[in-house]
Amino acid sequence: MERNIVHCDLDTFFVSVARLQNSALIGKPMIVGGSSDRGVVSSCSYEARKFGIHSAMPMRLALQLCREAIIVKGDYDEYSKYSNMVTEIIKERTPLVEKASIDEHYLDITGMDKFFGCWQWTKELRQSIIKETGLPISFGLSANKTVSKIATGTAKPCGERQVNIGLEKNFLAPLSIKKIPMVGEKTYTLLRNMGISKILTLQQMEVFTMQRALGENGISIWKKANGVDDSPVVPYHEQKSMSKDHTFETDTIDMAVLKKILFTMIDELAFDLRKDVKLTSCLTLKIRYSNFDTHTKQIKIPYTSSERVLSEKIMLLFDKLYTRRMLIRLIGVKFSGLITGSYQVDLFNDTIKDVSLSSAMDHIRLRFGVDKVLRGISL
Ligand SMILES: [Mg+2]
Repeated sequence: MERNIVHCDLDTFFVSVARLQNSALIGKPMIVGGSSDRGVVSSCSYEARKFGIHSAMPMRLALQLCREAIIVKGDYDEYSKYSNMVTEIIKERTPLVEKASIDEHYLDITGMDKFFGCWQWTKELRQSIIKETGLPISFGLSANKTVSKIATGTAKPCGERQVNIGLEKNFLAPLSIKKIPMVGEKTYTLLRNMGISKILTLQQMEVFTMQRALGENGISIWKKANGVDDSPVVPYHEQKSMSKDHTFETDTIDMAVLKKILFTMIDELAFDLRKDVKLTSCLTLKIRYSNFDTHTKQIKIPYTSSERVLSEKIMLLFDKLYTRRMLIRLIGVKFSGLITGSYQVDLFNDTIKDVSLSSAMDHIRLRFGVDKVLRGISL
């Protein structure tokens, strides 16, 4: 069956949020990120990009490229607020929504054409988001997620683009292979070394040539280059959560032991989040008492994968939930409301020391296994 899939992506999201709060920033080259000497560019305005500045660039280098660039410290609570506002507007109008990252959504609007016409519907939704939030956003509409995402990219900034069914290959052919979502720096270099720069070249190749060069990934890239993508839009509430439970050998009320177990579970889950490039927005604590009474408590939190932030929140939950002073048989932690997102964006809340500690621990865990390293606090 033919589908109608919308992709939408807020334009320079962190920059736009800062400009809502301070209109003096509009039209200026600006950078969101850590302002210290060792800071990194998290996001930058189109005016700053003209100077060659891009995200993940060291702040020091960015300022060499553009001295007058204004640095703004990130505010993750505000980003979460506006992100959820956009999600709510979309959900009011569309039953099938996937929140792909803090500033990106996929919508399956198949069947909508019978009533309104998908393109008209998409344009109206875009205008509503711009009007209700004040944030610029770009949209792509096509038969699948990949083509719509690439269409959004070509519509930026603040534009919209439709790729009609049957014209996917024509649309993709003249574009750079960099535009294919799966093609990162490494794959790009590899394909460039094979003499490939335009998607058209991939379309003209045999699939087995790509398979030989890149294995299973090669097949996926080849399919995407040909405008083929069957992957479904996965609704928000069906996205996976992550959880861990611990059952005590003997029931306990030893606070030191309970805290140690909680922090260990948080550390391990936060590591899994970062490994999958995910952020969580909902934290649940479960306590089962020795008489098998089970209580849970949940809080919504700004998107994060920082074990420091998550450890603070889990202790808040623990203090609220553990009021009975009874022996505990089991405790459990769950992260839900997951979206794709990088820990990078947490840079402004954490000091460089926190971040490098996390990544140093992740590095050791990836090499030697999760249980080989714990922060001092959980020992
Ligand atoms: Mg964006």
